[in-house]
Amino acid sequence: MALSYIDQADLTDKVVIARFDFNVPLDKEDKSKINDTTRIDNALDTINYILENGAKKLILMSHLGRPKGERNMDYSLEPVATYLASQLNDDVILSESCTDRGIKTLLTLNESKVILLENLRFHPEETTNDRSFAQALSKYADIYVNDAFGAAHRKHASTYGINEFFNKKAYAGFLIKKELEALAKVSESPKRPFVAIVGGAKVSDKIKIIERLLVSVDSLLIGGAMAYPFLMAKGFNVGKSLCSDEDVSLAKKILKEKTAGKISLPVDHIGSTEFGGEATNIDKEDISDDFMGLDIGPRTVELYSSKIKDAQTILWNGPMGLFENDDFANGTLKIAKALADSNAFTLIGGGDSVSAVNKSGLASKMSHISTGGGASLEFIEKGSLPGIQALKFGLN
Ligand code: AMP
Repeated sequence: MALSYIDQADLTDKVVIARFDFNVPLDKEDKSKINDTTRIDNALDTINYILENGAKKLILMSHLGRPKGERNMDYSLEPVATYLASQLNDDVILSESCTDRGIKTLLTLNESKVILLENLRFHPEETTNDRSFAQALSKYADIYVNDAFGAAHRKHASTYGINEFFNKKAYAGFLIKKELEALAKVSESPKRPFVAIVGGAKVSDKIKIIERLLVSVDSLLIGGAMAYPFLMAKGFNVGKSLCSDEDVSLAKKILKEKTAGKISLPVDHIGSTEFGGEATNIDKEDISDDFMGLDIGPRTVELYSSKIKDAQTILWNGPMGLFENDDFANGTLKIAKALADSNAFTLIGGGDSVSAVNKSGLASKMSHISTGGGASLEFIEKGSLPGIQALKFGLN
């Protein structure tokens, strides 16, 4: 069964409840200030479509941060409501809570077409996918829309359980459509050569995706702290670099597989004697005991850039080094430049790679920048996401 999109729904006089990912970064000092509104901006197409196509009321839902099931006003969606009102040129009423009795009254009043429910995660029932909580949310509306791609890998009440109560009345929004179309270009018959670049520090988290990628890619370039367990597994010295025993065993396992020939590892590094200390060029694979690797070196940049140049499809997740520190950002920025210069379909898989691409000033040169790091990686690994499966098939 194919996914139904919002433009297939008859919205005339309907109350629509829609889940978005408004989990925006707030300013640490001034919690009313949003530091990056991208996630809200990405929802506007779907919101405007619903409002312009006959819906009687629109109820918006989202989580923000990790308030751990408690009401904590540091995580209030108030700044989101204010920003949305300015973008929609309309009032956006923020409810006291998701189960506030006043919501039912608001639904009977003519004014205030848009209602934003307060942070879903103020209720522990959201993340435990509680059936009664999902049912309570469903009671507000006739139609359910999910456009929270960044949360689609979660089996939560508002992304998963709620589908049970909207049989044939559940639709995906335009952001999910865009994300799935981009992911299809790397997960279903990608144009070859297909090169994946994986970096960052969460090795154990990404090992599964590496195994999956090795089946479909022509070349896998490993950088960042991901590289050291692999180098160590191959018998090189990695000095004081980030590298756990568990990750080395995982790397050994991957290197034993037939597909291991597709892996490229750094041939040189930029390192330091301490985290963020003075940058030193280490012109070989081995890192001496008193040093740690903090970026890929210039010969590795050249090697990886030449593989990127020949590619037709490129997937990038995770920086090539400690890119937040300018002394160790060169590798990451040069890889971003190589992607920007390429004619390939380039997909940036969320999280820190997105910050890195933004830092490079080359974001507009990428084919697609995913709004959900975890969700896009899980989609590539498993070929589906719970939130999307539930929209397609319901829960059974
Ligand atoms: P991830 O969330 O797995 O993509 O990891 C991103 C983080 O990994 C960033 O904060 C980077 O600074 C960090 N990182 C990348 N390479 C290194 C490295 N060689 N040593 C320490 N941290 C690194």
